[in-house]
Amino acid sequence: MKVRITEYLDIDLTREKWHCHSCGHELTDATNNYKHGCLVAEVPMETAHPPLTESTFSFTPDPDFCRLLEFYCPGCGTTLENEYLPPGHPITHDIELDVAALKARHGVR
Ligand SMILES: [Zn+2]
Repeated sequence: MKVRITEYLDIDLTREKWHCHSCGHELTDATNNYKHGCLVAEVPMETAHPPLTESTFSFTPDPDFCRLLEFYCPGCGTTLENEYLPPGHPITHDIELDVAALKARHGVR
């Protein structure tokens, strides 16, 4: 039984796995960070936020202080999530589910 968690993420309560909502690709165990089952790319700040002026203050974030990571489904390439982090910071674990409680709520054993 699949339950939708976000716009692009489902959880299979029977198998306890994260899945891509778009194509159904299995990402990782439901107790893991789903980002560990994704393809990851760092997007250059100049690409994500092109300079708006030619001055040194261009509104483009300084890549020495900020990086943009995008997480993709390995099955279909859909962007599942993105996040801005300081360089060297580990990826965040932003969704931690109580799988047992979800199974009980949906009547899954
Ligand atoms: Zn997919």
